[in-house]
Amino acid sequence: MADIAISHLVKTYPGGKERATDDVSLNISDGDFTVLLGPSGCGKTTLLRMLAGLEFPDSGSISVGGRDVTYLPPNKRNMSMVFQSYAVFPHRNVRYNIGFGLLMAKKAPEEIARKVAWAADLLQLTPYLDRLPAQLSGGQRQRVAVARAIVMDADVLLMDEPLSNLDALLRLTFRSELKKIVQDLGTTTVYVTHDQSEALSLGDQVAVMRKGSIAQLGNPLDVYDAPADRFVGGFIGSPPMNFINAAVSGDGDTLVLGEQRLRAPSILRSFANNDVVLGVRAENVSVDTTRSSGDIPATVLVVEPMGSTVLLTVDVDGQSIKVQAPPTFRTEPHETIWLTFSPHTMRFYDGATSMALEAK
Ligand code: ATP
Repeated sequence: MADIAISHLVKTYPGGKERATDDVSLNISDGDFTVLLGPSGCGKTTLLRMLAGLEFPDSGSISVGGRDVTYLPPNKRNMSMVFQSYAVFPHRNVRYNIGFGLLMAKKAPEEIARKVAWAADLLQLTPYLDRLPAQLSGGQRQRVAVARAIVMDADVLLMDEPLSNLDALLRLTFRSELKKIVQDLGTTTVYVTHDQSEALSLGDQVAVMRKGSIAQLGNPLDVYDAPADRFVGGFIGSPPMNFINAAVSGDGDTLVLGEQRLRAPSILRSFANNDVVLGVRAENVSVDTTRSSGDIPATVLVVEPMGSTVLLTVDVDGQSIKVQAPPTFRTEPHETIWLTFSPHTMRFYDGATSMALEAK
């Protein structure tokens, strides 16, 4: 079993003013695909490197399958790592590069040949086994890096932005291939990225990191649908979640957006007379050119046809938000359109702490 228990990991680099990881705890079940997601500098690579044994924490512990590995060197952890830079040997052919780890582990030549053939087949590299890395495309080189990691039969696969050097189209194709390969292998995987769409598409669970801490841990749908705070809502989703300043009426029944009024969902009853921030995703606001009861008016600022949808930037009582309309929706800047907010998709945040409001 390769379930991982990360407990209270603190790490400050020599000379660093801030903690690179600040009391991070995280449990990963055997066979799960966990994504560490966050902006540059939030500590995700440091956390991955501590898992790999390439860095040691100042305090806290890491155990894998019940075994404390916190201060073990990398080669005693039975983990394989795929780096952002392919890190392949330029003067050795693909076959050698894939089999390198097995060679170092002094495996028998027949076993090395068998495993290299298996991984090359899985990653569609069989025709290239005798080529040098320079004779491969970037995507093929990254496949070599993945093949080299999976031949090791490691308990845990660690991947640090493995797709980030690939162009957008290749990244999409390889992403789904990688997901299938890792699913079929069933190896516990920890994957670092700053790309939210990659995190949502790959992860069984996503840990959204900010300034060395985990801001939210959950399955991709929950993290997308109910961000724990404004940072998570603003980081995940394209476009990011809209945030609109609002107030709750004295009786708790009405949500007041400037001159506009909406029926307040029941969670707001206990926040009567308070300022709140309404969080709503672009696709959860419906748009119309004619008014229905309960709709609120918005002025169109920008119209961006996206193919499957039209993305509109609109002004709602002095606040700019993005909404999604069907591809056939026709409107122009300066026109007034009508928005419907469905109560079950509204999220609410504390204006001061930015944390999601919970019913009291
Ligand atoms: P990126 O996506 O840019 O790689 P990250 O989320 O992986 O960022 P880390 O590389 O883990 O972030 O860095 C976390 C913090 O630790 C940052 O403030 C960074 O400047 C600092 N840091 C990282 N490596 C070192 C190092 N070797 N020496 C000193 N400080 C470091």
